[in-house]
Amino acid sequence: MIEFDLTINGQSAKTDNYFDVKNPGTGEVAGRAPNASLDDLENAVASAKSAFESWSQKSDDERQAACLAVAAKIEENAEELAQIITAEQGKPLNGLGSRWEIGGANAWAGYTAQLSMPIKVLQDNNEGRVELHRKPLGVVASITPWNFPVMIAVWHILPALRTGNTVVVKPSPMTPLATLRLVQLMNEVLPAGVVNIVTGDDQQENLGATLSAHPDVRKVVFTGSCATGQKVMASAAETMKRLTLELGGNDAGIVLPDANPKAIAEGLFWGAFINNGQTCAAMKRLYVHDSIYDEVCDELVAFAKNIPVGVGSDENAILGPIQNQMQFDKVERLVDDAKTKGRVLLGGSAGEGLFFNPTIIADLKNGDALVDEEQFGPALPIIRYTDVAEAIAAANDSPNGLGGSVWGTDLDAAKQVALQMECGSVWINKHGAIQPNAPFGGVKGSGLGVEFADEGLAEYTDIQTVFC
Ligand code: NAD
Repeated sequence: MIEFDLTINGQSAKTDNYFDVKNPGTGEVAGRAPNASLDDLENAVASAKSAFESWSQKSDDERQAACLAVAAKIEENAEELAQIITAEQGKPLNGLGSRWEIGGANAWAGYTAQLSMPIKVLQDNNEGRVELHRKPLGVVASITPWNFPVMIAVWHILPALRTGNTVVVKPSPMTPLATLRLVQLMNEVLPAGVVNIVTGDDQQENLGATLSAHPDVRKVVFTGSCATGQKVMASAAETMKRLTLELGGNDAGIVLPDANPKAIAEGLFWGAFINNGQTCAAMKRLYVHDSIYDEVCDELVAFAKNIPVGVGSDENAILGPIQNQMQFDKVERLVDDAKTKGRVLLGGSAGEGLFFNPTIIADLKNGDALVDEEQFGPALPIIRYTDVAEAIAAANDSPNGLGGSVWGTDLDAAKQVALQMECGSVWINKHGAIQPNAPFGGVKGSGLGVEFADEGLAEYTDIQTVFC
């Protein structure tokens, strides 16, 4: 049984009660997490506020060294963290599973440590000198979802630390355990109070809502659903908090007539099914040109049907279960509806427990629920088109705009299509391949602001312009 306490002001803090965290692959209790009270949350914010006084005054070199030490801690404890993620999230250890997630967390931590925000001289002449300074904000609240618990926490916490802020982390009630351990490890190399964590079951208290409205929190970085993101934005208004909101997506892929179906099948599959489809920037609908439609469908199914599905701790498994019952029910509802409208090429039914067979359903169209709604699970709808302009219009006919992709052999032509897609990131002949040196964020209803690279780092600062 995995069990951790809160970490507040560098100390382990016990709570009055704990809640069970289930292993989605087995249905058994994987561990217990602290059910923090509002007093615990107040202590965490107060501790971060107090630590900000000295952390924000540290030299750039000191903060960089501390971030590198955090990256090293993740690397040293990679296997333990991966095992905890697999136990609570359900994803396999192998493939693009929990070991891969920890590798990503370590890479992002190391890269973010190397970034910096030096003073920029805007003018220096006989009319005067103007300097642009980047100043830390104060206490940052990080609220995370259940799909990539450790990697997303690292995406939130490291740029905050690097720029001189202090943090209170609030993970999803579905996957709190690996983040509790991550924050313990960070506290082995950081001053007390710089990173604190509160966890709860969202029943006793809504810690996320309280943090989003807290007067001593200067910024909220939130990754999760559009509906909750909108609530965070509303709560943040009164105290004019800075916000980064990474919300849901309904990413489209467009396969052009000159694509090579066999060559793209593997990329299409992983673009859609990474983390069992439970990925914000996964490909969630696929538009394929009529001239190669059947071939693309056949190649995709031929690749997909050989992917081993199993409990996360099975070293041979490549895809695992859906993480929770609510998400499972949503996927099942969308697939049941799609079966009455389209043609099932693969799967289409539930397995045992929270397992759902990887599903591909052809001959759907915009207006069908599996195309219009974010399924966030292992079910891909395929839509036939004859005119590229029509496919672009259908892809853009969505309130979301996180990612998109175009598949074809003429790269210039593919880029012309890519530029017409309404989304924050667009890939050619791949999908969802984010990297720490490239800004990532959504347009339209998919969010506000970006993460990663200099542009993401800047979001943890206020500008002060100094006129000398
Ligand atoms: P969710 O919105 O249900 O929960 C996210 C977090 O918000 C959890 O920690 C939850 O406890 C907390 N929360 C609940 N109510 C709150 C409130 N009123 N105020 C503040 N916080 C509150 O999302 P989820 O189900 O955990 O994650 C799935 C969703 O996240 C999907 O829509 C997916 O597309 C999106 N997502 C987006 C990205 C991205 O980078 N764009 C990445 C991963 C997931």
